[in-house]
Amino acid sequence: MLSAALIREKALELGFDLVGFAPAGPTPGADQFLAWLEAGYHGQMAYLANAPERRLDPRAVLPGARTVVVVGLSYETLAVPYEVLRDPSRGRIARYAWGADYHEVITPVLRAFGEWLSLESRAYVDTGPVLERNWAQRCGLGFIGKNTCLIHRKRGSYLFLGAVLIAEELPDAFDDQPQPALFSGCGRCARCLGACPTRAFPAPGVLDARRCIAYLTIELKGSIPEPLRPLLGNWVFGCDVCQDVCPYVRRFSRPSDSPLARAFYPPSIDRAAPKLVDLLQLDRVTFNQRYKRTPLARAKWRGLLRNACVAAGNWGSPEALPYLQRLAACDEPLVREHAAWAIARIIAGESARSSATMQA
Ligand code: SF4
Repeated sequence: MLSAALIREKALELGFDLVGFAPAGPTPGADQFLAWLEAGYHGQMAYLANAPERRLDPRAVLPGARTVVVVGLSYETLAVPYEVLRDPSRGRIARYAWGADYHEVITPVLRAFGEWLSLESRAYVDTGPVLERNWAQRCGLGFIGKNTCLIHRKRGSYLFLGAVLIAEELPDAFDDQPQPALFSGCGRCARCLGACPTRAFPAPGVLDARRCIAYLTIELKGSIPEPLRPLLGNWVFGCDVCQDVCPYVRRFSRPSDSPLARAFYPPSIDRAAPKLVDLLQLDRVTFNQRYKRTPLARAKWRGLLRNACVAAGNWGSPEALPYLQRLAACDEPLVREHAAWAIARIIAGESARSSATMQA
């Protein structure tokens, strides 16, 4: 007979680090989600507002769903030195994107899990209508912090989350399960809110995605608002700042023992923080060869080059100028515009430096 203990054992055997269970029902925290949409904080991510009833209750996704199983896998990897990551001549990539595309790694494993269950089930990793973080908190896997991430008290927040809806109640699933409250482990800490370079948190636990570097460098398809560009620093794909500063990440985050996690290790330091002059020279063919089947494919060539131009402008080095000048004449208007901005920023910085030297 199927039981939570058996399912847990199987999920761990498949390589997940965390497993939790909750009875299917209205999605916890759905009101906050609706208020967030209502405020327009999702920006261009219109898909989040589609068919909201499916996000508000998993039984609208799988009629007859009785249990939500949430699995987690750590994507903490071997350390890449911070001096490398913060080097302004390099473009910084969010940790989750240092290796393979997590959808491609985790989805087949969850499918195998679903087949093993031999029950009517639906599995999702981030792209589906299930609010995994809310369910992970409900399952007792951690608490949602002021940075909106799911934080496990012994593993931090560098976690991929997946959800499996199953049409069976598990008698032993919900015994003595802790129910962490929102921000319950944060106490008086507010480091993430203060550290955010673009001030993207209008309130604890509320992220205005329109100011978030992850949104600006990945989801936003058009021009990055000029006032925000200098605040992006050297981030060219995503951002980890609000997690990096979190005491739970600093103290407890550790690489997973799972062979699944190996797929997320960077094959080289250049995958975590490529040199900007290399990025600025990428053509479309090389971009596709280098980044296909990785999360960076989502930004497409034009998005990554747009971001690299902004990072080069923030670097401020004349070394970038020949590459930016070539991009300022390329066939992609979005890249041309950001290259021109970066050139102007570098030249303005140079002039300011030489006037300061002359006055000294
Ligand atoms: Fe909570 Fe502090 Fe972590 Fe932010 S940095 S999520 S406030 S513990």
